[in-house]
Amino acid sequence: MGQFEYAKRLKQLPPYLFAELDRLKEEKIKQGVDVIDLGVGDPDLPTPKDIIEAGQKACEDPANHRYPSYKGLSAFRQAVAEWYKERFDVDLDPETEVITLIGSKEGIAHFPLAFVDSCDIVICPDPAYPVYKIGTIFAGGIPYTVPLKEENNFLIDLDAIPEQIAKRAKIIWVNYPNNPTSATATREFYEKLIDWAKTYNVIVASDLAYSEIYYDENDKPLSILQIPGAKDVAIEFHSLSKTYNMTGWRIGMAVGNAELVQGLGKVKTNVDSGQFNAVQIAGITALKNSEKFRRQIIPIYEERRRVMTEALEKIGLKPFKSNATFYLWVKVPEGYTSAEFTKLLLDKAGIVVTPGSGFGEAGEGYFRISLTVPTERLLEAAERIKNLVL
Ligand SMILES: *Cc1c(COP(=O)(O)O)cnc(C)c1O
Repeated sequence: MGQFEYAKRLKQLPPYLFAELDRLKEEKIKQGVDVIDLGVGDPDLPTPKDIIEAGQKACEDPANHRYPSYKGLSAFRQAVAEWYKERFDVDLDPETEVITLIGSKEGIAHFPLAFVDSCDIVICPDPAYPVYKIGTIFAGGIPYTVPLKEENNFLIDLDAIPEQIAKRAKIIWVNYPNNPTSATATREFYEKLIDWAKTYNVIVASDLAYSEIYYDENDKPLSILQIPGAKDVAIEFHSLSKTYNMTGWRIGMAVGNAELVQGLGKVKTNVDSGQFNAVQIAGITALKNSEKFRRQIIPIYEERRRVMTEALEKIGLKPFKSNATFYLWVKVPEGYTSAEFTKLLLDKAGIVVTPGSGFGEAGEGYFRISLTVPTERLLEAAERIKNLVL
């Protein structure tokens, strides 16, 4: 312990489970092993040129050098509304139902500050993106985790949530297409969720970061706002990070119920001063050409998925069958924990994957492969996996 003690909210955070893996990876690199990192969910491909050029041009305009508007550039919010209409046939009022985010992580982390009081319950899936739980803890709320099980196609089992928890819950988080499991939601699931949320007066917070990473034109991922009545209880977080290879730009949006969007806006007005206009202008170009850019990246991920799935099957491993995300969610072989198998892949093949247990207790027994390395590297990783003897 140093001179200055951390606040309880920091001490309360779950332990960083990847620390040991990071240490082992560094060790391997030092030993001269050519490590292939399939751990991080950060696209390797560059941002499309048209988007960069729009951002560059906007950088040069002095009008953009001043403080941006808190709720976001009007033209960006308009482009978001138009994109939602085009892609999901969802109507949004850009004035009251759309807000610009500095990446969706920012919005997800701040949202509970607007609606969660000390000791309110927030229902979080497990395994999951850690920010739902962390945002809850920072707001003084209590995360209640619900396991995502393969037998339910990794959908939340709403019937398994005890009534007294549902009554005390303020928010329920859902994320489909899902990180880390790659599962997608059905219309029936969302309908049931909206019904449940209305019964118990719970806010539905949907994280739609992967809606455009899909591989079946006849089975496009849904927005929860496509469900009639969803706008009474739901806010949706979206991001330009994954679809347009823009993770470094930090641009996303929250849309849906006006009261929920405004509440988040109130928090943001007091902690940040909005995203650089030039980044939002680049974002407009992304949204206006969404389908064109999507069609450029999907065949690349599609090939990587095929190559890696074949390699895994060769050693008797089968990824969960899904039509979305750039992740493969794979059961570890009999006799290993997630951590043990992850360590074996690093030791025997120089490959880093993410142990499922790093995403929560219910992720134990699985590992996640991220298809975000150049295809040649992925082919090399596939070769090494094929040669593994388990
Ligand atoms: C990558 C990711 C995000 C988006 O992150 P940004 O902050 O928008 O870059 C949100 N949710 C999940 C589940 C993710 O994997």
